[in-house]
Amino acid sequence: VTSKFIGGLAKTRDAFGKVGELFLRRKKIDEAFFEELEEILIGADVGVNTVMALIDELRAEVKKRKIEEASELQPILSEKLVEMLRGSGEDAGLRSNPNGITVILFVGVNGVGKTTTIGKLAWRYKQQGKNVLLAAGDTFRAGAIEQLEVWGQRVGVDVIKQHSGSDPAAVMFDAVQAAKQRNVDVLICDTAGRLQNKVNLMEELSKIHRVIQREIPGAPHETLLVLDATTGQNALSQAKLFGEKSGVTGLVLTKLDGTAKGGIVIAIRNELELPVKFVGLGEKMDDLQEFDADQFVHALFA
Ligand code: GDP
Repeated sequence: VTSKFIGGLAKTRDAFGKVGELFLRRKKIDEAFFEELEEILIGADVGVNTVMALIDELRAEVKKRKIEEASELQPILSEKLVEMLRGSGEDAGLRSNPNGITVILFVGVNGVGKTTTIGKLAWRYKQQGKNVLLAAGDTFRAGAIEQLEVWGQRVGVDVIKQHSGSDPAAVMFDAVQAAKQRNVDVLICDTAGRLQNKVNLMEELSKIHRVIQREIPGAPHETLLVLDATTGQNALSQAKLFGEKSGVTGLVLTKLDGTAKGGIVIAIRNELELPVKFVGLGEKMDDLQEFDADQFVHALFA
């Protein structure tokens, strides 16, 4: 797992490498040291609020433990980052339904990697021997249904769809019925990602929630918000926008392989009470990695 993170996070690791350099170059902990650390972390997209919080905690540790050498602070920084990323300690794994069909809903704006992530997750479940079905709930974006079907074929799972423009809640109803008939273990649902009309989108999502819940009590078991890490601070604003309002239970950060902005994971985790469930480290089927705070931080400084 660590090697996956180390490879996938190459560019972000360059950004965090400067932290390691700083700890070596500046022997003494003084104001200049903290200022430089602050600058590097903000530059690595950790986000101003989160960096301030981190620096405050480090200052407190320096006082409490009477630390003088900069090098002693490096493991403490790692510890704090792991704590932040773990949050209240939710399991990285996804909730499932022990008594029947597990329903996982995906939300997120267009282009973030939602369809790709659905395909990757379907493949993961198939690898575990599960019977998987996909629901083409993005009836709004041209090509969204076809794109999901391409992934369905690639992975070898069926897609339940209606025509473009139809009511997504009706697609979900069909999909749940099909899942019941076909003895499906996991139903993964795509939804529209337009943000131009936020109110409509939120209404649409809550209608989808209601339909699914009525058919399968306790469902959806997860509502995952997909965010594109390459957009840095924009991903953070999107996360806040969707936030808890749309019933989001977890996050997926995609495209970490192509960006130096991986620090955004820390900012998002710190500012939102939502666990990061997966990260995307490439475009292939097996490039979806379960998030692990320890491994992630270890990879940043390895
Ligand atoms: P959607 O509009 O949210 O459904 O986005 P797509 O799933 O179509 O993805 C948009 C683009 O991002 C595609 O070219 C994907 O191959 C690419 N993509 C998705 N996830 C990742 C990832 O983790 N890493 C990289 N490098 N590319 C990704």
